[in-house]
Amino acid sequence: MNPYLLTNQLDRREFLSRGLAAGAVAGLGVKASGNDTVANSLHRGMPVAISSGNGLRATGKAMQMMKRGTDTLDAAIAGVNIVEEDPNDMSVGYGGLPNERGVVELDSCVMHGPTYRAGAVASLRNIKTPSLVAQTVMERTDHIMLVGQGALDFAKMHGFQEFNLLTENARKVWVRWKENLSPKDDYLGDSEMKGFERPTGTINCCALNEKGDLSSVTTTSGLAFKVPGRVGDSPIIGAGLYVDNEVGACGSTGRGEAVILSCGSRTVVENMRHGLSPEEAILDVLKRISEQTVDKRLLRNDGRPDFDVNFYAVNKKGEYAGGRIYKGGTYAVHDGRVNRIRDSIHLFDK
Ligand code: ASP
Repeated sequence: MNPYLLTNQLDRREFLSRGLAAGAVAGLGVKASGNDTVANSLHRGMPVAISSGNGLRATGKAMQMMKRGTDTLDAAIAGVNIVEEDPNDMSVGYGGLPNERGVVELDSCVMHGPTYRAGAVASLRNIKTPSLVAQTVMERTDHIMLVGQGALDFAKMHGFQEFNLLTENARKVWVRWKENLSPKDDYLGDSEMKGFERPTGTINCCALNEKGDLSSVTTTSGLAFKVPGRVGDSPIIGAGLYVDNEVGACGSTGRGEAVILSCGSRTVVENMRHGLSPEEAILDVLKRISEQTVDKRLLRNDGRPDFDVNFYAVNKKGEYAGGRIYKGGTYAVHDGRVNRIRDSIHLFDK
């Protein structure tokens, strides 16, 4: 075992007493749904594939491939490719919702635990599987991230085919949003649009194999109707995902700006390095995000964040958890035996 890890695990009691546990004792409302905390803590199974709530097919595929001996990153990417190529998932890849000008711009990153290498693309247009381009950046360049036209040129150089990613469904949702932006412009709006919430979504998948190797991938079309060029957390190493092959892996979905500000996935993994379980590690970061959201426009009337953030984490022992700020989240997990959707743990009931 890494001696640094051992030293840091010895600090766990102090870390807990200063941080999360102190918060829980003080009645800060850190809660888990149902029996998930207990069940997750007892889990010692390996391998594990964990993903966002839209990732049940991804965890199934990743597990099937890992069982055949496929590398953890190749397995996780093959899993999310199913969702990237699915026109019915409007938050990822082909069929994803476009930016404010009606152009689909995709973000993705990958991290390979055994080699501590990573790759990423941001604002990539016209390619269905940005996760595979991110992996190619990792494998075929000395860089970590390519963006925009450079990322597209690079993808084409490596044989990726250009494709119109804007499906009819996504175009119609975008047109309705645009027509209803203002009662003062010349588009004729639609009264049914009252209360319309911008759809969100992304897919992350973290994979742990029987040898204890870890990898992770995150891929998204980002915030629907975003300002062109806006990059969220999904392609940022440390935010959209992080892997420490000695410790664990974590990925995120939800409000990217909050995840970037908290270096969310990296912080969850660092918490696990200090000995916290995946659920403790996640809840600590969610609590910090909640406390550090002080900008009034991001707060509800009760002073809590007006957005949500999700983390999906697995440690090297095969313990895992999915968690988010508010009750109601789900995640997909294959524990080597069963592939299923589970309730996420949460900070606040509502
Ligand atoms: N995290 C994504 C982003 O900020 C969006 C999401 O997951 O809903 O781009």
